[in-house]
Amino acid sequence: MNTPLQQAASRDLQALRSRSAAELLIDYTPGDPALHLQLEDGTEIHYPVEVNGQLPPLRNPDILVGENDLTALSYLHEPAVLHNLRVRFVDSKIIYTYCGIILVAINPYKQLPIYGDAVIRAYSGQNMGDLDPHIFAVAEEAYKQMARNNKNQSIIVSGESGAGKTVSARYAMRYFAVVSKSSKNTQVEDKVLASNPITEAIGNAKTTRNDNSSRFGKYSEISFDQRYQIIGANMRTYLLEKSRVVFQSENERNYHIFYQMCACADQPQFKSLRLLSADKFYYTCMGGETEIQGVDDRADMAETCRTFNLLGLKNEFQSDVFKMVAAILHLGNVVIRAVGSDQSSISSTDSHLAVFCDLLEVREENVCRWLCSRRILLASETVIKPQPRDRAINARDALAKHLYSYLFDCIIHRINQALRVPGKPHSFIGVLDIYGFETFDINSFEQFCINYANEKLQQQFNLHVFKLEQEEYMKEDIPWTLIDFYDNQPVIDLIEAKMGILDLLDEECLFPQGTDNNWLQKLYNYLSSKPMFEKPRLSNEAFVIHHFADRVEYQCRGFLEKNRDTLYEELVDIMRASKFPLLAGFFNEEDQSSVHTTKRVKVKAARPGVKPANKQLRSTVGDKFRISLYLLMETLNATTPHYVRCIKPNEQKLPFEYDSKRVVQQLRACGVLETVRISAQSYPSRWTYIEFYSRYSILMSQAELRLGRRSKRVKQCCRGSYMTLISISLDGPKSSSGQDRWRI
Ligand code: ATP
Ligand code: MG
Repeated sequence: MNTPLQQAASRDLQALRSRSAAELLIDYTPGDPALHLQLEDGTEIHYPVEVNGQLPPLRNPDILVGENDLTALSYLHEPAVLHNLRVRFVDSKIIYTYCGIILVAINPYKQLPIYGDAVIRAYSGQNMGDLDPHIFAVAEEAYKQMARNNKNQSIIVSGESGAGKTVSARYAMRYFAVVSKSSKNTQVEDKVLASNPITEAIGNAKTTRNDNSSRFGKYSEISFDQRYQIIGANMRTYLLEKSRVVFQSENERNYHIFYQMCACADQPQFKSLRLLSADKFYYTCMGGETEIQGVDDRADMAETCRTFNLLGLKNEFQSDVFKMVAAILHLGNVVIRAVGSDQSSISSTDSHLAVFCDLLEVREENVCRWLCSRRILLASETVIKPQPRDRAINARDALAKHLYSYLFDCIIHRINQALRVPGKPHSFIGVLDIYGFETFDINSFEQFCINYANEKLQQQFNLHVFKLEQEEYMKEDIPWTLIDFYDNQPVIDLIEAKMGILDLLDEECLFPQGTDNNWLQKLYNYLSSKPMFEKPRLSNEAFVIHHFADRVEYQCRGFLEKNRDTLYEELVDIMRASKFPLLAGFFNEEDQSSVHTTKRVKVKAARPGVKPANKQLRSTVGDKFRISLYLLMETLNATTPHYVRCIKPNEQKLPFEYDSKRVVQQLRACGVLETVRISAQSYPSRWTYIEFYSRYSILMSQAELRLGRRSKRVKQCCRGSYMTLISISLDGPKSSSGQDRWRI
């Protein structure tokens, strides 16, 4: 792209792409190296063909624009996809579109009357293509395939924050609850649905991008009996964002449950917790505004309690949960003062410390002491070393984070117990609501884990699509050569293989003197030769991974601490000695193994004995995450997957507003465009002979038509006319500039 003309054309094309164009009218004189293009709005541009040796994105015939399956477009490329989605979304207010086996769902940011029970009944029993694309159609397909093929199913919902994953997952679950409702009305469906408000109360929070953002991943398996009626459920959760418990950015909040409880501080059952309003607690007021417009925390608390009751979780357990939540709030308000530059102290009359210790039944002088000092083991003796204020605050916050994440796991465990099916269920449908690919200005350990999860899911998706493709060709005896697809195994290896990023991180975490920078140096030394890894030119504190969706630069700072996730041993001992059974159980290894849903498994490359400071499961966060992803993939691979990709159409949360630039980024990141590419390279036109006959009969001879009218001969007739069609060049792959390819 050297000449000014070429550069200009390339710029024009970029602009076109981001404007969702596909509106080109072309004037081309054979032999001319440039195309003269006119857009629908009258603008004219010159497009030199030699820029990339390809025609520019061609416009689809009007009849196809607004198609409810993107792969049905004659011209498959980014602008066409964007344009088609825009026409449906903006002009027709249709939020769902298929892209082959994917359902693309664009968040309307407006309540639509398309989710009622009557709509569910309309979709029930229908075939996927018979009605308009809908989350209910996907749910029905999964339900039908479960019953027909006697095979477990998964609905994999992904997309970026605010795109509508949780809402879609909820609708899918409601669909199953409605269609499988038994006449006996056992209430089990209501119980399964009741798990959602509780998990949202404890795992969702207001962020700048979404007022109800899920800060964890969730795979909910809904269990069915032989008659395909719901009998229970089981949830697995992934990587709760713990840091939110002690820190929130501006305009964000902590987990909803904290505010719900503060809003009910005056209610008799909460009196003993000595709660204040949310703006009086450090852990709930950091982001500024403590209320969310349109949300009534008090009413939501009533809903949380109602669902606790509906699930049969006893009052005793509920009050234990509330006690823990309140204790965390009080812990956050414990004032730690600096004593000189290297020591700290807590006042013996600190009222919040007193409430914390009272609620959790731990000894106040011990907590006071071990927040502000540490025991150091030397060769021959043990010394007590006072800690400076920032370290003491870290210890306090680490304790709060651990308490909350144990509580979270424990509640999930209890919900699972409440929904447990005796014995093995006949079959299940899993709904995965998991964070999409993330890239921010500053990316850290959290983004690294999230993007790693997305690489695994993308690989699972690619393999599934190609497997399906191959199976289809083999079934119909069609000669084919393997289509080239982007295999992201090298990135996955870079992260999880021996001596990969996670391995080196765990190794560095083993060293008491390990640092983020030492680890980074090791990454540079061992991984710089890998094509998917890069050392940024302008930084010595970051590394770059070429993910399938984008190139992401990660700052190394904080990786070690987040991966170790340690809590001082002294504090662990205090908690373990508590008279409060729920709390003591959190720190007791035997109890823990029953709470943690993560099975202990041997995964391919077992890691050397990683040893975190506390005595619970002995592994790092990265290692646990790797294992949980391995188990998730194992589960997904044993099910038939269905994919829902949610798209956030604009940043301002405006109804039916379509920002093409934002949409195209997401389509690239969630694999929709990759699917389009695959479809363009393979045989996307799967028509029955009847369909082919009705579209092209106009080109047939009288003799062929007569043959075709006798329906059994349609196939023979189509074969005959296919020969004719080849001669008018409808052969060749459907490609970015291409035509339909037939396989009759
Ligand atoms: P996060 O990753 O932050 O959890 P998410 O993808 O789960 O985000 P949701 O919480 O499902 O996003 O959706 C964000 C908001 O968008 C919802 O609270 C709702 O207001 C709106 N929304 C999403 N889907 C729909 C829909 N189908 N109809 C109407 N509004 C919707
Ligand atoms: Mg969500």
